[in-house]
Amino acid sequence: MHILVTGGAGFIGSNLVDLLMAQGHEVTVIDNLLTGKVDNIAHHLENECFHFVNDSILNMNTLERLVRHAELIYHLAAVVGVKYVVQDPLSGIITNVRGTENVLEMAFRYWVRTVIASSSEVYGKSTAVPWHEEGDRLLGPTSVARWSYADSKAIDEYVAFAYARRGLPVSAVRYFNAYGPRLDARGYGSVIARFITQALNGEPLTVYGDGQQTRSFTYVADTVAGTVQAATAADAVGQAFNIGTEREITINELAQLVLRLTGSTSEIAHVPYRTAFGPQFEETRRRLPDTSRAREILNFEARTLLEEGLGKTINWFQEQVSNVFNNTSERHS
Ligand code: UDP
Repeated sequence: MHILVTGGAGFIGSNLVDLLMAQGHEVTVIDNLLTGKVDNIAHHLENECFHFVNDSILNMNTLERLVRHAELIYHLAAVVGVKYVVQDPLSGIITNVRGTENVLEMAFRYWVRTVIASSSEVYGKSTAVPWHEEGDRLLGPTSVARWSYADSKAIDEYVAFAYARRGLPVSAVRYFNAYGPRLDARGYGSVIARFITQALNGEPLTVYGDGQQTRSFTYVADTVAGTVQAATAADAVGQAFNIGTEREITINELAQLVLRLTGSTSEIAHVPYRTAFGPQFEETRRRLPDTSRAREILNFEARTLLEEGLGKTINWFQEQVSNVFNNTSERHS
């Protein structure tokens, strides 16, 4: 198949591209490299079945040219990460809402099956855990920029389902804290990247708040497997799916685990939210998916244990450090 992946140079996108290429598909990536990196897809650039377009999904001409030739679209391009969205809410809203409208409009025009990447953030701070796709969403006031990400992703889903009612085969996947190789070391979008980097550098691990908030960290290989299943399962059309693990862990426990697995002697430092994000910040206390729908309709299960996935992720971060070291010493010799 000829498959279009928007945001294919990003963390989840590039892992998805690897899977699709391994399955023998022809893959085109469009990415504006805001948070995506050429390094993530460099190993495919010489492959004639792979095409990379450095452009934005806000550019309708490019998008039309690409969608016209696609048989399937994975739409992952977005401004992601609470920190990024809080820093620059406007570009988040425009990219995530207008960009998705563009992709879906083109998918509808050329009748291409599409999966859009949504987020567990859409549930906001709902206390009705585990969260089911049909459960209520609970968001804070519009003065708190964090929730603009949740609303932008929810609007994306509304638009997708509106097109589904008009016959477009489209589904949404709600990701729960994906992690793994190629996480951005600057920590955009992941506490795991930050903790590993801090642990390997011997710096304190910065736990925000009391550290009793929980997340369900999902290894990226499971995340992309669920994404592909949403594009192929016959009954997936017109629905959203939780793509996550049912193992819940507090951020305090995560910090301890990273210290144990890296063998680091770093300290754990509790940092008030106000210091990290400014005064106007709200947090999701527990984030846990109900995965029954994904299991029943997609045959999806997040199989990777946290310890195993973290081990692979730590190895990857260590390789990056030694690659930088080797390249620097080659230049000096
Ligand atoms: N977090 C933390 N220290 C950091 C970065 C994040 O304690 O250096 C916390 C954050 O407040 C949240 C959790 O870790 O409770 C997950 O944050 P992340 O940015 O990975 O994703 P989120 O779930 O907030 O989208």
